[in-house]
Amino acid sequence: MIFDCIILGAGASGLMCASKIKTAKTLIVEGNPQPGLKLLASGGGLCNFYNSEISFKNYYGQNPHFCISALKSFDFEDFKKMLAKNKAEFTLREDGKFFARSSKSVLDALLNSLPQNIDLRLGCKFDKASKNRDIFEVFAGGKVFKCKNLVCSLGALSRKSMGASPSAFDLAESFGHEIAKPYPALCGVIFTGDLKKRFADTAGISLQAELSCGKNKFEGGLLFTHEGLSGPALFNLSLYGIKNKTLEINFCPKIKAEDFIKQNKNGPKHLLALLERLVPPRLAKALLNGFDKRTADLTKSEIALTAREINAFSFTVDKLGGYEKAEITAGGVSTKDISSRTMMSQKVKNLYFTGECLDVSGQLGGYNLAWAWASACAAAKTINEA
Ligand SMILES: Cc1cc2nc3c(=O)[nH]c(=O)nc-3n(C[C@H](O)[C@H](O)[C@H](O)COP(=O)(O)OP(=O)(O)OC[C@H]3O[C@@H](n4cnc5c(N)ncnc54)[C@H](O)[C@@H]3O)c2cc1C
Repeated sequence: MIFDCIILGAGASGLMCASKIKTAKTLIVEGNPQPGLKLLASGGGLCNFYNSEISFKNYYGQNPHFCISALKSFDFEDFKKMLAKNKAEFTLREDGKFFARSSKSVLDALLNSLPQNIDLRLGCKFDKASKNRDIFEVFAGGKVFKCKNLVCSLGALSRKSMGASPSAFDLAESFGHEIAKPYPALCGVIFTGDLKKRFADTAGISLQAELSCGKNKFEGGLLFTHEGLSGPALFNLSLYGIKNKTLEINFCPKIKAEDFIKQNKNGPKHLLALLERLVPPRLAKALLNGFDKRTADLTKSEIALTAREINAFSFTVDKLGGYEKAEITAGGVSTKDISSRTMMSQKVKNLYFTGECLDVSGQLGGYNLAWAWASACAAAKTINEA
């Protein structure tokens, strides 16, 4: 038997592709005993599945424009209709994020939308694939399946516990595709050495900060954890590859600390008490790192140095949260040999890549699921029209 289409991976992208496929015989191969595990965990169980403001600027990859065509042609109204038809309620928040009442309702809606005759094989681990003339041979779960179209929606390296594997990259490489160096993204930073000691008492502090690394800058929530730093601003910055680079944090973006200290220099206070008016007390203590003095006695350079700790604290990032904590993997199957309109390989006819396995990484805010849906629909449309 030759399938018209085999979809590898029953995650967000694979299920979306399967729900749109109109071919007669379609098979989905999923290694986990249940589909959509990562989708279930998304948005803390509330699945932030889209954003009302989507632009290529919300994505990072070697070709920043690659995502435009698929995102533009994605029919979000149709997606909302599919959710409504399956009674999956959702809300649009003020910040433009679409959240579901539950991630499970989105997963159920996708599963309900699968064509009746689809063959969904769970607990079936994909191993490798090859192509002989026009037919792909797919080795999975100890069997060999044949198909005319092969869609790789195998995700990437983040969250092995949810089924993540390097299979998409292995498959792509076996067909001659390049892989843009992968790294964990949308993840926090782990403090090591002196920083670990210095910030040992800061866990639980959260504040609005401005973070920058090279030319990339994000303002937003920053959270001190038992291990280091977390929060949306840092997650977004991590997309751009911050390991071994200098991270600069402005803990009090609205106030110029140097002016503030100078203006209050002749007050009765000690420096620590003064800084507690700018940042949370435990953070002020950590930033002063044992230093304190009556403000009236501060020298010019002491004021400048202290102000720098508040407005431009910098350190080299030597450890990130890692793939088991990262929400996504940045990098991936290089887009240079993939059609941005159809997601088809330009090296191997009828081989498609969709979702997170591609070198298209979105910021927080529903952008990664938006990409999973849009790329899947682009591939499905092309297969249906062939
Ligand atoms: C905790 C968490 C929260 C998130 N929240 C959000 C959010 O709210 N909004 C948002 O936009 N994004 C969110 N993301 C990111 C988003 O979930 C992913 O970008 C998206 O799921 C990618 O879809 P995908 O189908 O490409 O990959 P996946 O969802 O990872 O699906 C890939 C599938 O392939 C299967 N697979 C892998 N290897 C094999 C193999 N060898 N054989 C068979 N099957 C295999 C996996 O088991 C998996 O089911 C979150 C991620 C995490 C981890």
